[in-house]
Amino acid sequence: MACGLPRIRAMHDWFKRSALFALFCIATSPYSIWACSDFYTKIPNVPRALCRAADLKPSAARSVQGRPILLRDLALAGAQRRVLVVATMHGDELSAASVALHWLQMAQAAPLQTHWRFIPVLNPDGLMRRKPQRMNAHGVDLNRNFPTPNWQRETKVYWEQRTGKDPRRWPGPKPLSEPESRYLYDEMARFQPQLIVSIHAPYGVLDFDGPVMPPTQLGRLYLDQVGVFPGSLGNFSGVQRGIPVVTVELPHALVTPSSAEMARMWRDLLAWMDKTLPVQQPVQPEADDPVLAQVVEERVYP
Ligand SMILES: [Zn+2]
Repeated sequence: MACGLPRIRAMHDWFKRSALFALFCIATSPYSIWACSDFYTKIPNVPRALCRAADLKPSAARSVQGRPILLRDLALAGAQRRVLVVATMHGDELSAASVALHWLQMAQAAPLQTHWRFIPVLNPDGLMRRKPQRMNAHGVDLNRNFPTPNWQRETKVYWEQRTGKDPRRWPGPKPLSEPESRYLYDEMARFQPQLIVSIHAPYGVLDFDGPVMPPTQLGRLYLDQVGVFPGSLGNFSGVQRGIPVVTVELPHALVTPSSAEMARMWRDLLAWMDKTLPVQQPVQPEADDPVLAQVVEERVYP
């Protein structure tokens, strides 16, 4: 008995030190390491190293179930264009997040005079379901939740008559009712992008809304403008606000294009941007955009 007590005390101390060390590690780990061990692990063709190199940061926004919506800014000092890339607005379109992360890597490797803001997963709750789902945790199709004209009437008519009340396409109770769509709306106001690239799957086409000439192809995806939907991002941004939206519909929701194809799509996107988007004055940080202010202040490129 006498020689057992010190051993128990030693074990107790060891457990205490281990627990404190674990807590310290969790508290001091970069956020992206946690995310890359958690919900980003569901994304296909994204090795842990690629995810960590993306160095995603938490925005101020959380999903319905409290998951952070992550983003990453890339900018050279004096960047002359602002482009917002958003993916996996529909949680079951896993390949979309993967392409966003691969393009982020390409943007890191070859800096351009463009300020990129990447949001690889707008709908983390939909992605994290055991069987990933299109809608967010409230069952809302985020791509029908943006404030387009006559939203109450038009989304209702469309949902009831055109989709037959398809639960996968429910627009929600009111425009911007969801934290995820509200976040994107606010981010557009803060960042003032000249272009939005919205990545989806699995229709295998390129769609476009906006006041400029659309790209005719990105890699093997060809332009096929499928129409304007009430409450959609393309309608809200491209048609109503005049901010072009390139909607990339990948051919598969669970499988990414090959590396060569992703690189080709990226090159085609950049070439179209050079031809089409006017170059603007260097970006100035805005008082209410802490991310942008930080990037311009640091004047670094990873
Ligand atoms: Zn989609």
